[in-house]
Amino acid sequence: MIVHTQKHVEPDALSKMSRALEATRYTRADGVSVLVTPSAMKEVPEAWRALVQESFPMNSDLQLGSRAYMKQLRRIPFGPVEIGGESNNTVFVAGPCSIESEEQIETVCHALVSLGVKVLRAGCFKPRTSPYSFQGMGIEGLKLLRSAADAHGLSVITEVRDASHVEDVITYTDIVQIGAKAMYDHGILNAAGGCGKPVMIKRGFGSTLKEFVQAAEFVLSKGNENVVLCERGIRTFETQTRFTLDLCGVEFIKQHTNLPIIVDPSHAMGYRYGVAGLSRAAMAQGVDGLIIECHPNPEQAKSDASQQIDLKSIQELYAQMVALAAAVGRNLV
Ligand code: PEP
Ligand code: MN
Repeated sequence: MIVHTQKHVEPDALSKMSRALEATRYTRADGVSVLVTPSAMKEVPEAWRALVQESFPMNSDLQLGSRAYMKQLRRIPFGPVEIGGESNNTVFVAGPCSIESEEQIETVCHALVSLGVKVLRAGCFKPRTSPYSFQGMGIEGLKLLRSAADAHGLSVITEVRDASHVEDVITYTDIVQIGAKAMYDHGILNAAGGCGKPVMIKRGFGSTLKEFVQAAEFVLSKGNENVVLCERGIRTFETQTRFTLDLCGVEFIKQHTNLPIIVDPSHAMGYRYGVAGLSRAAMAQGVDGLIIECHPNPEQAKSDASQQIDLKSIQELYAQMVALAAAVGRNLV
């Protein structure tokens, strides 16, 4: 159950009520505190009713992120654009898998700005499967990414890999990415909950939809109301593609949650030949964003070389998305 208190309840009374209701809580800017109890609790006990404005009994632990709580899609500031709400906006996010050098990121920024892209994505701390693969440029990359983006008027989204650099990423980025492998990391989820910046959570490739939205609940229940989900493919029995893009899952998210959903066809497919087709499918489906990996020289990329598309291809893909967005009633932003 979600409980909205009266405005500015005394801190002492608030903690006593939270303890009695076994609730997590945060306080909104307007002074209302939001308490979230286990979903088995359906009613506010008599003793606390005077402090309560409104309560919302819930059927499952999909609570703050549910349509049952919030009928409209959340409006999320995503860099300089807004997604969700009634906007019908689909944000086109692009960039290399990893920032590799000043020259590389400069070339990519130049190409993206000329298309009208507003949000740049690149990894600095890479969660690689092998310890012998390129691990990312770390803090040096983060600073380079920030200054390249600033020089071109772009916003940045980049990933937190582990607890060692959460604060650095939060400081330098505009939007915090929690990657598929970090989806269960409670240190990262909690830090993201208190960071004051929008957060995008990528679905773990072995995670159910319920686990995926519950990861978002951790961030939401720490008081961060700006959470976006990203479907990036799950592991199935199929081995010919890197993962399997779960577009059924996207429909589930749209139906049952109030969280915008972004699709990442690059990681799902794992091969550049499929990126445009999957992007068209996702756009036609009406997603809130696309994240595409691109690189000036994809074959030479230090990570995810097989799936990144070159700068001419991203230009072609962007043009396709402009036409398709118009055809399906979306605004490409
Ligand atoms: C990435 O976005 O570059 C990445 C590592 O993706 P994922 O967390 O989905 O594997
Ligand atoms: Mn990648």
